[in-house]
Amino acid sequence: MTDNEKLAELLFGDTDKTVEYFEEKYPPRELPEGARVTRFAPSPTGYLHIGGLFGALTDILTAKASGGVSVLRIEDTDKKREVGDGLEAIIDGFRDFGLSFDEGVTGIKTQKGAYGPYIQSERLEIYWAVAKKLVAEGKAYPCFCSAEELDGIRTQQEKEGAPFGGYYGKWAKCRNLTYAQIEEKIKNAEPYVLRFRSDGDGEKRIVFDDIIKGKMEVPENVIDEVLLKSNKIPTYHFAHVCDDHFMRTTHVIRGEEWLSSIAKHIQMFKACGFKTPKYAHTPQIMKIDGETGAKRKFSKRKDPEAAVSYFVREGYPKEALIEYLMGLLNSNFEDWRRANASADIFSFPFNLKKMSASGCLFDLVKLADISKNAVSVMSAQTVFDRVYEWAKNYDGELYRLFSLDKEKAVRILNIDRENPKPRKDIAKWSQVKDCVSYFYNEIYSENYTLPQNITADDACEIIRAYRGVFDVRDDKQVWFDKIRSICAPLGFTANVKEYKKTPDAFKGHVGDVSTVIRIALTGRTNTPDLHAIIGILGADETDARLARAELLFKEKN
Ligand code: GLU
Repeated sequence: MTDNEKLAELLFGDTDKTVEYFEEKYPPRELPEGARVTRFAPSPTGYLHIGGLFGALTDILTAKASGGVSVLRIEDTDKKREVGDGLEAIIDGFRDFGLSFDEGVTGIKTQKGAYGPYIQSERLEIYWAVAKKLVAEGKAYPCFCSAEELDGIRTQQEKEGAPFGGYYGKWAKCRNLTYAQIEEKIKNAEPYVLRFRSDGDGEKRIVFDDIIKGKMEVPENVIDEVLLKSNKIPTYHFAHVCDDHFMRTTHVIRGEEWLSSIAKHIQMFKACGFKTPKYAHTPQIMKIDGETGAKRKFSKRKDPEAAVSYFVREGYPKEALIEYLMGLLNSNFEDWRRANASADIFSFPFNLKKMSASGCLFDLVKLADISKNAVSVMSAQTVFDRVYEWAKNYDGELYRLFSLDKEKAVRILNIDRENPKPRKDIAKWSQVKDCVSYFYNEIYSENYTLPQNITADDACEIIRAYRGVFDVRDDKQVWFDKIRSICAPLGFTANVKEYKKTPDAFKGHVGDVSTVIRIALTGRTNTPDLHAIIGILGADETDARLARAELLFKEKN
């Protein structure tokens, strides 16, 4: 037995499973040529960032477009970043937006697939088996340096202007401890971390091909990176290498913040004897800062829309957000969508190479446009179902009002819908209450402010005349003819063209007359089809509102 082998036994005596065992347990996947295995690997921080949804979509689309497999793996090795129910936000986020992975974590307590477990804290024996092998081969060693010692090294490096900061080369005090020295320290129960023994040369560079960023050249890694922390929990770097090997990931798609660690990762794959996967580093999603007008990263603190839960709370239809993200992912998506209006997004021929390498801009206005279009083609029943479901969680008052008479709610939502030019005023479910408020006395806020060109006196006359002819049974034509009929006697004209020709001859035109009626009935100057609104309000309520308006206009005189 060599000293290194002895050391492996000393450090990992309890680890009986070997790398060979796991190679057999997790064999290369039998997939068609070109199939890609991807994974989304969030930490359970209790927060699903919009960039996370973007990343997950990239993973799922890449796998789907190639007949491969997408995996959801939970990276819970950094306890500092974790919160108690951290997994829930991730699971809920994906469920809310209808995304699911082929394999991995499927719920708070559920997982599926033959390459699991898919939560890193449940995979410790795998990391330990690989670590044991690395120690036996002299590629890893225990380091007993304390935090103070490490600080001291850093200070000294700064003083001397060392080319790299960190634990390496002559600075790596524990690199050359003898077996006997280590045995002594272990006997004394001195805490230690396990470090990688880097064979990198800081003068040399490695070249690698990132699918999104293209060919890149970076210096070799010289640092003896920590593989296992003092509690034997792996660092991200080591867990990434072990997991992506044994899960047989072909394409590691992850945020560009990891690009700076790439030399380390490639080096570790080689040292472990594993094939390096392909990498694609995705750009950050950016936004325009409201105050400065400059492009910047999303801030968890400043931007509520950084969290996916914001879109749920606001009631953006899930398909609209996904549709919008698709356009950000691949700029040819919108053309594809025009040609394939009702196709499933997963039939889109997604291509990682077409992703922007420099970052994409998230624009709430564009999202709202996409959303308005999506809602405009939904049936009234669908809109009702979706709003009702949303209101159950986020707007008790609206939920109660809708519960009282669901049929009425569907009729309201059907105004100016299900026709070739549907209304496009709803982008998110939280806007619906305002759109329907005048149908419900409990939440209707009257507003009798008149346009400048109409006096209270005229308004009063208009309402009085209208009350004289109003009949709730009138069809739309008759209804409108009646409004036209009251114009002339009050000094208005039913003919808009005529008004435009000789505005001074009239107090206003038929549009002004209907505006007054609209204000009297809804408190607004702008609404969908007024005839339909009256039909839903019914004769009694319409007359009551007209009577009240008449009175108020009269009092204003
Ligand atoms: N757990 C890492 C993170 O949350 C994932 C990086 C990766 O995808 O490899 O940033």
